[in-house]
Amino acid sequence: MITFEHVSKNYSHNGSIIKALDNVELKINEQEVFGVIGESGSGKSTLLRMINTLEYPSEGQVKVAGVDLMQRNETEQRQNRKQIGMIFQQFNLLYNQTVKENIGLPLHLNKSYDQKRVEEVLNFVRLGEKGMHYPSQLSGGEKQRVGIARALITQPKILLCDEPTSALDGQNAYDVMELLRKINRTFGTTMVIVSHELNLIKQLCDRTAILENGKVLETLAIQKEQQQQ
Ligand code: ADP
Ligand code: ADP
Repeated sequence: MITFEHVSKNYSHNGSIIKALDNVELKINEQEVFGVIGESGSGKSTLLRMINTLEYPSEGQVKVAGVDLMQRNETEQRQNRKQIGMIFQQFNLLYNQTVKENIGLPLHLNKSYDQKRVEEVLNFVRLGEKGMHYPSQLSGGEKQRVGIARALITQPKILLCDEPTSALDGQNAYDVMELLRKINRTFGTTMVIVSHELNLIKQLCDRTAILENGKVLETLAIQKEQQQQ
């Protein structure tokens, strides 16, 4: 589904070169929940952002469904982004818009707004009662569920999650984790989850890559019984 082949990424900063990713090789399977764990600055966000072409490799290739993202034209890249949803540590909601308006935003942008679909997704993330609320009236966990609903509304094949529970406390973090698990089981959505939290990765992911200074140290399968709690 997603492959990284000899991928390196250099940023230039104050005249020096920062190697954010260094010869990364990865293969993420369809319907898999794949973790990327590493300390701050290890290159996790850079890796994630390459999958929806928010960043491009300096060397090597990132392929989604067998096609090199660099080789796609504008229209194909837009098509690629459409089948990918993304959620963020800080939720990235619009604070002057209601929950429903936030969730419906991707449909508005595609000129395919559908009130029924908004209701459906709202109920799926169990926010049926809060459609007319504003984000400031919600808990952190609820805000992230809005972010998840907004990502899900276009039925993406791939969901990219950047530190999805890092801004949340225990119960809220757990609820969001359960919701991500449910999405994978219900729709078979392929997920890439970037986190510095070992616990999240262990409980949610099928496999994980360990990233250090832009290099994949190893890729591990995660024992099934550790996931069932
Ligand atoms: P992580 O998500 O693991 O914290 P990042 O991918 O954000 O890591 O960053 C990896 C490295 O690349 C860090 O050293 C970071 O400072 C650097 N970096 C990331 N984005 C940029 C950028 N736009 N310009 C310059 N350096 C960057
Ligand atoms: P339908 O053919 O009626 O859409 P599905 O079983 O495909 O039935 O989907 C059931 C519900 O889940 C529908 O509301 C559909 O819009 C939604 N759905 C299906 N696939 C996805 C997906 N990949 N991501 C998010 N929602 C989805």
